[in-house]
Amino acid sequence: MCKHILNAQVSIRSPCCRQWFDCALCHAENQPSHPLQPTTEMVFACKKCKKCFRKQVAEMEDADEYCPHCDNHFVLEAVEPKARLEVEGEDVRRDARMLRDERVKGKEMASVWEDEGEAVRLG
Ligand SMILES: [Zn+2]
Ligand SMILES: [Zn+2]
Ligand SMILES: [Zn+2]
Repeated sequence: MCKHILNAQVSIRSPCCRQWFDCALCHAENQPSHPLQPTTEMVFACKKCKKCFRKQVAEMEDADEYCPHCDNHFVLEAVEPKARLEVEGEDVRRDARMLRDERVKGKEMASVWEDEGEAVRLG
């Protein structure tokens, strides 16, 4: 799951290490030993239909921004995490943890949230 482009529609296979990444930043984080190798032909995997396809990067046109298998429009304006620069991720992490805990409602967390609810009721 790419944390840089939240709405990534495709994975890209890096030509250098033949691994799948959602974006160049993901490659940089997972393969710090080498830079992403530039290539003229990219191999994509559509996240919607899970099929792979190739594109000539230099020849890419608007019409090519769709998955040839399911017509998923995969070139979107990237949705990036908000306030990434301002809070340096700390608030984002805390928010994500709270959301997950609320959904999971494990026994351990239930007591915490009960207390939380009690506190809210007492004002
Ligand atoms: Zn690589
Ligand atoms: Zn990424
Ligand atoms: Zn597709």
